This record gives sequence, C-alpha cells and structure tokens, in this order.
Amino acid sequence: MIMRIRGVVLPERVERTFWTDGEVLRTEPPAGRGAGREVETVVDGGWLVPGLVDVHTHPGAEEPEHGFDEAALRRHLEAHRDAGVLLVRTPGTMRRMPGWVDTEPGLPRVRSAGRWPATPGRFFPGVGRDLREDRLPGAAVEEATAASGWCKIIGDWRWDEPAVPLDVMTAAVDAVHAVGGRVAVHCQTAEGSRNAVLSGADSLEHGMHLDPGLLELMARQGTAYIPTLGAFAESAEVWRGRERSAKRSAWLAGWEGMVANVRAAYEAGVTVLAGTDTFPCGTVAAESRQLFDAGLPAGEAVGAASWTARKWLGLPGLADGAPADLVAYDRDPTAHPEVLGRPARIVLRGRVVR
Ligand SMILES: [Zn+2]
Repeated sequence: MIMRIRGVVLPERVERTFWTDGEVLRTEPPAGRGAGREVETVVDGGWLVPGLVDVHTHPGAEEPEHGFDEAALRRHLEAHRDAGVLLVRTPGTMRRMPGWVDTEPGLPRVRSAGRWPATPGRFFPGVGRDLREDRLPGAAVEEATAASGWCKIIGDWRWDEPAVPLDVMTAAVDAVHAVGGRVAVHCQTAEGSRNAVLSGADSLEHGMHLDPGLLELMARQGTAYIPTLGAFAESAEVWRGRERSAKRSAWLAGWEGMVANVRAAYEAGVTVLAGTDTFPCGTVAAESRQLFDAGLPAGEAVGAASWTARKWLGLPGLADGAPADLVAYDRDPTAHPEVLGRPARIVLRGRVVR
C-alpha cells in the first residue's frame, strides 16, 4: 500500500504532500500503482513532525538490581513508540543491545552507547563496566564500536569527590572520535561538567553545576546540553523536604543552575535536547514542556524532542527520500504543547502504528 500524507511540515511551516514508497517518503506519487499498491490517505491536514526523539532513555532495565531483560526492552520501546517517540538514544545499558534492536519494523530506531565505562568509586557498583582510569580510553572505544557509535562515560559520581581527571577524559574522547564515534558524559559536579566540556565531549548528560562561562565553548565545538530536567525535578522535591545540610544546599544550587542554563545555553547557541532518563518510557513530551518552562522558545522546545534531536543523531526531517517516520497532530504542537505526547497519527518505517 502507498500512503498519502498531507499537512503542514514543522519546523518549516510549509504545507506538503508525501507518499510512502516502502519505508521512504516521496514528494511525488511513486510509479507502479496497481494490485497491492493502492493509495490510501492516512493524514489529510494538520501538522506533521518527523517523529519524537528521546536522547536519554534506558530501555531494558527499570532498576539496576533487576538486570537487563529483552522482554522489558521491547515493552519499553513499545511505550516510546505509542507516544510517538520513533527514535531513541540509549546512553549506556547494563548489557550491550541485542542484535534485533533497531531492525524491528514495529519498534523505534535506536542509537545505543554500549555499557557504561565506570572508573573506581563512580557509578552503581557492578552495574557499569568497572575499570581503572588508565583503561578508560580503550574501553570507551570498545563500547562505542560495539554499539552504534556512542559511548557514555561516567564523568563523576559523588558530589564531594573528584571527577575523572581532564587528561584521562580528553584521552577517552579523542580515542572515540578517532574511530568516528561520539561521547556522552554523565556529569553532576562542577569539575565533572567542566572536564566534559574541556575534553570536547559531544554531550553533557545532566550537566549539573555547569559553569555558564563554558556555554560559548560548547556552542563553538558542538557539545550538546541534555539536562534531563524531569528526572531531576522529582529529586529536587525530595531534597527540598530534607533537613538542611551542605549536600542539600549543593544539590539544590546545582538544580537551579541546570534550569537557568537551559535559557543561557539557548542564547549562547548550544544545542539543548530532551532526554527523560526516567520511567515509564514515552514521556519525552513532558521533558519538552520542562525545557519550555525553563525558557526555551516553544518551537525550540518541540525541536529538542524532535527535529533538532533527529538531525543531531544523523537523520533527516520530512523530505523526499527521508525515512517514512512521522507523527501528525490536529493542532500545532508548538502552540499547544499539551498535544505533543498524543499524536493523532503515528507512522514508523512506512507503516501506520496508530
Ligand atoms: Zn541516564
């Protein structure tokens, strides 16, 4: 079957008609209509977005102690898909992704980062790939090449303990870049965030206590900021309710900085993206809303959970020859953010999901 899809394409705001040709979009009806190639109109009007994207999600293991489980992975990816999330990046998993991931016609596309290389004292014991600091560059390359090009490094852990030293982090980032990979860094301390930026990492995950003075460098070298606000907002509530302590003050100051840096990063020209880092899966629309509330303009906040993230992961928007992945809305999601997580129509790899 050939599907016909008409609507106003975002972010361009141009009305277009597409036809599907297998798993690809065409701007002209494909030739060879006939038996089995009838044209069916599946979207006729409204707004078209090239699928939602969650760049920080960990499908497959809800709690580290439960372990990684392929049935859970499938269930989590289905939850993403049913909310219109058609592409995810998984910044670290307990086990490398199984071979079927990213090839199943009914499941979102997956860009994975292998296991978490974790140096002593950093990360949940036994959950990452535990190693000495001098082994970090080699392990980062192994994980990136065994996954789809990404490696996620645990750059720091406890709030009052040192981060991975800058020379070690730089060696790891350089080594992964040398094989064509990209590096995401978990950072929750000022030193960890600074070392992630100075090492030339491709993304800061959380970026707590990030010195806003580093935003210009991030913009210049193309380091993205992925604050995962929704996950941290929940923790902020817990911290506010606790007794005063140095740790509590540091945590809440870090949280306020994360929120303030969203607008500052946007103004500096840094790519800000939506990652949930939480369960249930399929809630990236809520993270987009968090970014909007933190000062990202409405269109940018939707782009952070869609076209901007998709481009950042190497996939085109809605154009001739692009993958036939899209979500359609009756109302403009940049003007009505409440509709973002409930698309009227979901098309993935040329098939109607809903
Ligand atoms: Zn995470």
